[in-house]
Amino acid sequence: MLEAALLPTPLVDCTDEAFARAGVELRLKRDDLLHPTVPGNKWRKLAPNLAAAVERGHTRLLTFGGAYSTHLRAVAAAAGALGLESVGLVRGEELADRPRNWSLRAAEAAGMRLEFLTRAAYREATGRAEGEDGAADPLRRWGPCLVLPEGGSNALAAVGAAAIPAELPDLGERDVVCCPVGTGGTLAGIAAGLPAGARALGVAVLRGGEGYLEEEVARLHRAAYGRGFDNWRIDHGHHGGGYGKVPAELAGFAERFERRHGVPLERRYVAKLLAALADLAAAGAFPRGTRLTAVVTGLPDPE
Ligand SMILES: *Cc1c(COP(=O)(O)O)cnc(C)c1O
Repeated sequence: MLEAALLPTPLVDCTDEAFARAGVELRLKRDDLLHPTVPGNKWRKLAPNLAAAVERGHTRLLTFGGAYSTHLRAVAAAAGALGLESVGLVRGEELADRPRNWSLRAAEAAGMRLEFLTRAAYREATGRAEGEDGAADPLRRWGPCLVLPEGGSNALAAVGAAAIPAELPDLGERDVVCCPVGTGGTLAGIAAGLPAGARALGVAVLRGGEGYLEEEVARLHRAAYGRGFDNWRIDHGHHGGGYGKVPAELAGFAERFERRHGVPLERRYVAKLLAALADLAAAGAFPRGTRLTAVVTGLPDPE
């Protein structure tokens, strides 16, 4: 059995000078407290997919990720707890013969079987993973599986993330609900779940995502809801140099924020989101009276 989730997740006011100076309120939606083994937005996105897997009689999940993928660990933990098999296709064949890092070790400890692919084979496999029975070789090799895309962002994932704004009371014209953007599934769900008047803002954590990430969110909207939404946008100016990069300035911001507010900040996504919001607020990007709700999508890494 999968351990119970803490729902709704806590919503806390965060009084912070950097925002107050700009006349902007900040609240934190503590999705990092959602679940002990399937963190934050990974739980939001996986829950409806797991229900679908069980309903359709699948006994095996297959998915993709890099060497430190939170999504891989989340799928491994959830599948293990539900008695489903799981397979992780990992980017980087050179990792096969090396001692496992903490993340891959955790995935294996939860019961996930790992297959290591060259970057070319990985691209090919993820590119074909859209349907349930992808045609690429590694997918065929593992037989019938429920295939989840990289990062877990599919139509059901967006529907799962749409529960986040549904847990926020009284959203209206002055509200902007904000999240980091990796593959876009979380932002897609948040935008779709907002009431009229409220808006969603995503902060891209990777470099060069302009256009591509917007297309991904729009694609997920069509797949999940059969239409587009015009209440969201993505900021591309705060990726800090690229995915996984944590410049000294960002590290300093995160440490100060943690000290001031007692909230541990995951660095690759959550710290980037909050630093971006502080910067945008200081630059006058939000009208005075704006209420920002930052979704704390996950936990700091254990190592
Ligand atoms: C995976 C992850 C994200 C990215 O979410 P997407 O739905 O892929 O955009 C954001 N925050 C944290 C903490 C994550 O682990």
